[in-house]
Amino acid sequence: MMRASEGVLSGQSIAYFSMEIGLLSEIPTYSGGLGVLAGDTIRSAADLNIPLVGVSLLSNRGYFRQTLDSQGGQTEHGVLWEPSKFMSPLPEEVKVKLGAREVKLRAWLYPCKSHTGSSVPVIFLDTNLEENHEEDRGICDYLYGGDESYRFKQELVLGIGGVRMLEALGFSIRKYHMNEGHSSLLALELLRQNGTNISEVRKRCIFTTHTPVEAGHDKFDYKLVESLIPEREDLKILKKLGGEEKLNMSLFALNLSAYINGVTKQHSRISQQLFPGYQIQAITNGVHSYTWTSPFFRELYDRYLPGWANEPELLVRADGIPDDEIWAAHRNAKKALIDYVNQGTGVGMDYETLTLGFARRMTEYKRPAFIFSELERLRKINEKGKLQLIFAGKAHPKDEAGKQLIREIFGYMEELKAEMKIVFLENYDMELASRMVAGVDLWLNTPQRPFEASGTSGMKAAHNGVINFSVLDGWWIEGWIEGVNGWAIGPEPDEPLSEEECRACEINDLYNKLYYIIVPTYYKRRDEWFKLMNNSISMIAYYFNSHRMMRRYVTQAYL
Ligand SMILES: *Cc1c(COP(=O)(O)O)cnc(C)c1O
Repeated sequence: MMRASEGVLSGQSIAYFSMEIGLLSEIPTYSGGLGVLAGDTIRSAADLNIPLVGVSLLSNRGYFRQTLDSQGGQTEHGVLWEPSKFMSPLPEEVKVKLGAREVKLRAWLYPCKSHTGSSVPVIFLDTNLEENHEEDRGICDYLYGGDESYRFKQELVLGIGGVRMLEALGFSIRKYHMNEGHSSLLALELLRQNGTNISEVRKRCIFTTHTPVEAGHDKFDYKLVESLIPEREDLKILKKLGGEEKLNMSLFALNLSAYINGVTKQHSRISQQLFPGYQIQAITNGVHSYTWTSPFFRELYDRYLPGWANEPELLVRADGIPDDEIWAAHRNAKKALIDYVNQGTGVGMDYETLTLGFARRMTEYKRPAFIFSELERLRKINEKGKLQLIFAGKAHPKDEAGKQLIREIFGYMEELKAEMKIVFLENYDMELASRMVAGVDLWLNTPQRPFEASGTSGMKAAHNGVINFSVLDGWWIEGWIEGVNGWAIGPEPDEPLSEEECRACEINDLYNKLYYIIVPTYYKRRDEWFKLMNNSISMIAYYFNSHRMMRRYVTQAYL
């Protein structure tokens, strides 16, 4: 049997802990942006030969597969997948105490291979062993499923089990990187091993926060915590470093990490206000260039900018690629998407019409129905120059407001049926994301500020010459140059407007820019449109990629 620590990773590694990791569309161990970012992190680490090992949970039943009825009602289905098709079980076993019971864990190894020949091991923890109590066998079944107690058990398995498993596998870990607070119990295990030497543990921990609102941070009742971690010494430390009232996983991570960062510049500033007294740095997210570039653009970049995949900075010279070749590559990607849409839904979209895409988690702050705010204005635009809209996205099983938003969009689809082709595609996943970010003309993003910590799908779009039209939140604040590489919806971040004024400004921008700028540019001034496509590549993709991001993590956090 293979050993996880063999190969490139002799010597010391960085352990990268994440509740979700998106490696392949067929491996359902991710739900959305956080997991896809973790996957891109690992893919870039493999390309760049960074000694890193990923740690996550197996998610035996995945997140869920989404189906939608004719009214947009969502049904969630457990995913049955065969881990052995993609990864191999390792012989090592470790134990974690959950209250009075000991739970045995094993690990599955997925080697994430790079085209450069190197690879990064990813360890998926699994409690589904015969020796375990029936209840404990399912701890790693559902990503973000179950109740608070289920979640805390998962976090115990991930944090404490993860550290122990890496040791059992023979890894020598220099730094522990927590991707979001879910894994911060790893620091408790390190404290136990270090005789509670806080400064020693801090030196070894890195924490990346992803949540710009207080309520978004995982918190657990001490009643629950005590039932699963009864040791008095542990509880004392948890209360001291994770909060007296409730165990706040982010606070625990903040207190035990010497390096802390947010995922965009704005998000770091907001996190700094949320957690005064901590030094919060910024490393802006990126996406894995090769993964998120369609085959049509890969071929084009290979010809004009050889080496781009491992050195995405080269995309800065996209101005040397002739417009007609960029347009031809885009037309191919668009045709592939439209054919896919038409085959799946029979809606009859065409290749010429200006096509807008919106796909992300369906949840309130993302405001997926924002484009339907004033139907009369949307109709006017559609009379001036035809529009097609393609939506996708899952709502978390417990997010009733998110589910309602899908039904709302279906309502608008029905209402506009005679005038406009609109579809909502089921089961948004990495594969569908790849098709959509490459195949539409305009990538729409209308979050409620300042809740979008980063957002990454717009960066994927830019890699395919697709133009961003977005609220100035998250990464777009750093990427946007008005009318040069895309368009903003609403005010600049530092304009002192009330929530109402802000919304009014966003609605005006949304419709006015579509009517007066975007539609005429697409239909009448194609040369200008080409320039914006080209600038998306040379001014956005060249920078907002995970190779640049990982080089930052190496020089600022890992070394
Ligand atoms: C990229 C991606 C996301 C994140 O998109 P945002 O713009 O950050 O919301 C979510 N889900 C999937 C499947 C993705 O590929």
